[in-house]
Amino acid sequence: MKQARRLDNAPPYLFVEIEENIKKALENGVDVINLGIGDPDMPTPYFVVRKMAEAINNPVYHAYPEYDGSMEFRCAVAQHYKKRFGVDLDPETEVVALLGSKEGIAHIFFALVNEGDFTLVPDPEYPVYELATALTGGVPYHMPLTSGNGFFPDLSIIPKEVVKRSKILFVNYPNNPTGAVADLKQFQSIVDFGLKHDIVVCNDNAYSEFTYDGIKAPSILMADNAKDIAVEFHSFSKSYNMTGWRLGFAVGNKDAISKLKKMKNNIDSGVFTAIQVAGIEALKGCEKFVEGMQKIYARRRNIAINGLQKLGLEFELPRGAFYFWIKVPKGYTSKTYTQMLLDKTGVAVAPGNGYGEYGEGYIRISLTISDERLKEAFERIRNLG
Ligand SMILES: *Cc1c(COP(=O)(O)O)cnc(C)c1O
Repeated sequence: MKQARRLDNAPPYLFVEIEENIKKALENGVDVINLGIGDPDMPTPYFVVRKMAEAINNPVYHAYPEYDGSMEFRCAVAQHYKKRFGVDLDPETEVVALLGSKEGIAHIFFALVNEGDFTLVPDPEYPVYELATALTGGVPYHMPLTSGNGFFPDLSIIPKEVVKRSKILFVNYPNNPTGAVADLKQFQSIVDFGLKHDIVVCNDNAYSEFTYDGIKAPSILMADNAKDIAVEFHSFSKSYNMTGWRLGFAVGNKDAISKLKKMKNNIDSGVFTAIQVAGIEALKGCEKFVEGMQKIYARRRNIAINGLQKLGLEFELPRGAFYFWIKVPKGYTSKTYTQMLLDKTGVAVAPGNGYGEYGEGYIRISLTISDERLKEAFERIRNLG
């Protein structure tokens, strides 16, 4: 059977090989410590689960949901935004519920990008920006994120011809995989760039609640005139350990949101209303819960700092998210170091080149594993000598 040409365009998923190798190791009885995945290891908070148990028994929620999310959900998002970021949102026009943020991120490319248009995406990046571009027939322009530029794109080096033909720019702060956090001034520069060139600018804020050392992550919508051009994506997956529930939302510029809604309404029929009810509960109870999670990740971050320093590995101190972006030792590539670690220690990591060309020479480890296993992983690597 022949697949559609657009699928040929989708770049191969670089993590497939490492996943195969992990599977093989497990089959051979290796006790694999997987530091490669970004899926929280802790359960959804009980107060959210309890609300869901109650909601699922209400037949009112068994019917088709409202396409754009229930008004209650959108109002709860608007209230959350006001409280957390000081940003006013109109729940009617500036908020849409998503089946996980990945769905909305992919669909906004379909809503805005024509074949041959450029998209401006970070490198390294969360692979969805790249894949969605490929599926639309657009052309991704990679904005390098390097330690030299503080893992923030230098907009001045993008060729004029590319800027002219670009429809959308994506950034992701707090950043996966580098751990960088943008400040408001940096977001303002993105917004000003978008306004000047009529390019919709998007921030993927999936890690908004995970920052360290007293830093508080801003929203791109806090920048002046942001609502004229910017959209922000949020996810319940990371903040509330809800990856399996599939709930997120997009907020911001009402034209862009309306085009995203139009795209979505032709493909999906909205989020199960009971899940939205549980999501409202998560937003209401978020402060206390998130505080607890922050403490856990801060503790694990210290374990990782300690372990990496003892190993003498060069790494970026993460200011946000729950990953470490680590330079591979001399003589290795991302792939060979990843493979060596798995073969010799049973520790699985994510090879940096899976996140883009500029990720070559790095690996990413994740803090979504217990303190004990994390310590053991460093112990095993240290014993390599
Ligand atoms: C995990 C993650 C998401 C979340 O995706 P969901 O579809 O909401 O689960 C989005 N963006 C980035 C950068 C992520 O790492």
